[in-house]
Amino acid sequence: MNTPYPHLLAPLDLGFTTLRNRVLMGSMHTGLEDIGNAHERLAAFYGARAKGGVGLIVTGGFAPNQDSIVMRGASILDNEAEAEKHRVITNAVHEHGGKICVQILHTGRYAYTKQPVAPSAIKAPINPATPREMTEADIAQTIADFAQCAAMVRHAGYDGVEIMGSEGYLINEFVAPRTNHRTDRWGGSFENRIRFGLEVVRAVRERVGREFIVIFRVSMLDLVDDGSTWDEVVGFAKALEKAGVDIINTGIGWHEARIPTIMTAVPRAAFTSVTRRLMGEVKIPLITSNRINDPQVAEDIIARGDADMVSMARPFLADADFVAKAAAGRADAINTCIACNQACLDHIFSMQLASCLVNPFACHEFDVTVEPASAPKRVAVVGAGPAGLAAATLLAERGHRVTLFDEATEIGGQFNYAKRIPGKEEFGETLRYFGTRLKELDVDVRLGRRVAAGDLAGFEHVVVATGVVPRTPPIPGIDHPKVVGYVDAITGRKPVGTKVALIGAGGIGFDVAELLTHADAGGDLATYRKEWGIDFGYTGNRGGLADPQMAAPPREVWLLQRKPTKLGEGLAKTTGWARRLLLQKRGVHMLGGCQYLCIDDAGLHLRVGDDERVLDVDTVVICAGQEPRRELVAGLEAAGTPFTLVGGADVAAELDAKRAIFQATEFAVEF
Ligand code: NAP
Ligand code: SF4
Repeated sequence: MNTPYPHLLAPLDLGFTTLRNRVLMGSMHTGLEDIGNAHERLAAFYGARAKGGVGLIVTGGFAPNQDSIVMRGASILDNEAEAEKHRVITNAVHEHGGKICVQILHTGRYAYTKQPVAPSAIKAPINPATPREMTEADIAQTIADFAQCAAMVRHAGYDGVEIMGSEGYLINEFVAPRTNHRTDRWGGSFENRIRFGLEVVRAVRERVGREFIVIFRVSMLDLVDDGSTWDEVVGFAKALEKAGVDIINTGIGWHEARIPTIMTAVPRAAFTSVTRRLMGEVKIPLITSNRINDPQVAEDIIARGDADMVSMARPFLADADFVAKAAAGRADAINTCIACNQACLDHIFSMQLASCLVNPFACHEFDVTVEPASAPKRVAVVGAGPAGLAAATLLAERGHRVTLFDEATEIGGQFNYAKRIPGKEEFGETLRYFGTRLKELDVDVRLGRRVAAGDLAGFEHVVVATGVVPRTPPIPGIDHPKVVGYVDAITGRKPVGTKVALIGAGGIGFDVAELLTHADAGGDLATYRKEWGIDFGYTGNRGGLADPQMAAPPREVWLLQRKPTKLGEGLAKTTGWARRLLLQKRGVHMLGGCQYLCIDDAGLHLRVGDDERVLDVDTVVICAGQEPRRELVAGLEAAGTPFTLVGGADVAAELDAKRAIFQATEFAVEF
């Protein structure tokens, strides 16, 4: 095959059907399931990914019965009338030569309902409700409900199902001694604990027949105490194969695990070695997953025999055409998922529709279209940070003639700092993507040039995307030589000592603290494994947990804020906990309620409550937020040049890239 990715793009023959390549779009709940025109919206969403070449799609989880829902109002698929509504989805995918399975998800004790059910009445640490222990009759009914749901999936025209058996949901709860304390035939011995999952598979297979894809997602590394042993993972996989499963997918980490498994700081493809250990133990194909976002990484996984297929989920929010671009040898044009979670999982966990920080069109395929501009204009975009890049490329795509200015010699603005933080290197991919887009769209890019309003007279409209200037707090001694701005600290333009105080504990304070305390413990994967205590080889405890081994951080750091609240409270929902935990593990002192008195040769003088103290630090790094940078505005107003402010230049307070890119996109799609 004439492609840079021959293993990834090779078909996979399942005997009764063939997948066109080895790329699975993994299951994601997007929130589209729960709003008006859900099926049409899902059809547009999945149809676009099928058109973009993905081999097999797995939908977000659908519940087989009322007990199994994530929360009130979530989608249940248990009858023909409901199944009929799904035909628009299956047709949209099949029209583009794709295949699609429904994930059947019973949330067990993770259900945010009044009365969750579980194998045993043991409360999950992430759910306030204690589950009710399932009776024998409950178990029999639930197995029947899985089978009924699968039958309805088939009725709707889907190609198969994925039975969710990982992440600490119901089936996983039966398998693990952590959550299964039963003494009947559904608990105790390993054979008893896997019985429920196997019975579900047998019942499903009986209802759907042989020629229907049944994927089972096995928890291959629970990352919680009292999870499975490796021998149990292998034993379960073999039993599942015998029970009629066609493909085994890899699940990593329970939702209650205190180890991050998908955020940016997790190295790419960190868990494929776990799937690899199962290769050869069963004859059916294995799928690997987690932090795979690049076609070469995916190709290498399959080429070296770590798995037969690769699952990527968020990368298909970032770019529906991931596979088509890879197949065309245009990997440089892929809009890469940077694993930030900011617009996908963080949205879902705050009851908003998912989208994507780098692709605000994700999940809006049904309601937003990009039309050519009715009256193309000459537009100057000033500032090549995330907001300016998003505006410039979309305006050019719509036919406007765009010139992009930046006084820096490279595009990227604040992303150039983010990508230097260990574990945030992915941010550089967004800049590579925008660089490609600017060339493709023939945007006139003028870097290394600071423009004044007078230079912009020939333009019909100016987009002011000039970003922010770091705030300098009025602390006595702020001019002391030991004071360094965060930009100089991150870029290394100014030296930072071994005892450091950080003034400001927002996203950037946390970033700088991570950078300054980072000790390379033998490469990204080794550092991640040691810091978080992961036993990939199951040499010790059940669940794959090991004792964390923290390398001595190169600096002692104090992270400070004036608010009396917990530090990092405003960080993103799905990643903030891990960022706080990592800094705690590295011994960073976190102090809230600080009043900064002065900075002098002795260090930083502070008052915390009634206590006055001096932190005898070598360096004080200022991470105290930003102010909008708007010096162009007065000149543009005076010249009568129409302009629009976007991103940090508009509102700097708690500016983040998501807001900057979304705002610039909203403007450019309408202009
Ligand atoms: P920020 O989130 O607004 O935080 C600014 C910090 O400075 C706060 O801790 C604030 O706390 C303190 N501060 C504000 N005014 C001050 C003053 N006059 N004197 C002393 N301290 C002051 O800003 P940021 O950290 O620069 O981040 C900018 C944006 O980028 C944020 O929205 C952030 O979420 C985003 N970002 C996100 C990430 C991420 O990982 N998601 C990473 C980097 C940046 P007190 O007022 O309590 O002192
Ligand atoms: Fe990936 Fe971030 Fe987009 Fe989510 S919001 S899909 S993590 S880039």
